[in-house]
Amino acid sequence: MSTKETLPGALLLQGRGGIGKFHLAYTLAQTLLCESPLDSGEPCEHCGACHWFKIGGHPDFRLLEPEAQNAVADSTGETAEQEPIKKAIDKKASQFITVAQIRELADFINLTTHRNGLRIILVHPAEAMNVHAANALLKTLEEPPPGTLFILVSHQPQRLLPTIRSRCQKINAPLPGRAEALQWLREQGVAEANACLAQSGYAPLAALQLSEKEYQLKRNHILEQLGAPDRFDPLTLAEQGDKMELAWILNWMQQWVYDLASIGMAGKARYQPESSAEMNRLAKTVNLIELFRFQQELLTAQRALHHPLNNRLVLEQLFFSYWQLVNRQDAAYV
Ligand SMILES: [Zn+2]
Repeated sequence: MSTKETLPGALLLQGRGGIGKFHLAYTLAQTLLCESPLDSGEPCEHCGACHWFKIGGHPDFRLLEPEAQNAVADSTGETAEQEPIKKAIDKKASQFITVAQIRELADFINLTTHRNGLRIILVHPAEAMNVHAANALLKTLEEPPPGTLFILVSHQPQRLLPTIRSRCQKINAPLPGRAEALQWLREQGVAEANACLAQSGYAPLAALQLSEKEYQLKRNHILEQLGAPDRFDPLTLAEQGDKMELAWILNWMQQWVYDLASIGMAGKARYQPESSAEMNRLAKTVNLIELFRFQQELLTAQRALHHPLNNRLVLEQLFFSYWQLVNRQDAAYV
């Protein structure tokens, strides 16, 4: 029996964002369609099928992504795996995989395949399907068309319909080891490999994206302010932050607050070990209940990210809450 005949109708590749799941899924698709795959399980990179993959248009392969993500991929030459580090996106572009995109597959599925008798649909990330799209896909998975493989890539599989999950063969993509990740980052020319890896939550591909100089400068600027409550000025910082991506700032603040709580309770920072000294000092003065309340406020702001917002106002409110959190209640903001 050939590999093709033993394949399930759908695979679910699940694991943290930024660790290379998309790359793995894409290479798997290319290998399965390659005309002379290597014994190592990699595509040959020379045949007609591999050539089609290189130019991004194999006739038996479809990639389903949210429209907004496509814009990101086009502008960076990569596909972002982790929400907080996405570049500026067109707010009008859809953040979801839509039912129209799933319905368009019907024609593709009914066509005869080109060479290998197999067609592959890569859905990335699967949790970006809105509820209508997910239900439409479920119908297809319930009656799998012959010779068709769905590869679902998911950073948050708990957000998928259980009925979709149960129809997929699951593959867990583990986080790579820390030493291995650091070595790989250094090979890519990342000087601050340790710090970037920590910021990414130990996901190396995400860490590589975060290592970009301008991103780090902006992040350092905000974190320096967060670490200096006596100089902290919500209005000035909101004005500066208005020129940055709101999603980034929310992510930095969430990590900062997470570490403050973590240092307060367990004496250990996860995301910015380099700022441990400032955070140690702050953790002693901050009320933990207030800190959790502020964490909720950040979460609410993050959930509203895809709606049109007045970023400056959002930042003023958040920075002001933070100022209250880190300054004694009897201090007055002037
Ligand atoms: Zn090939």
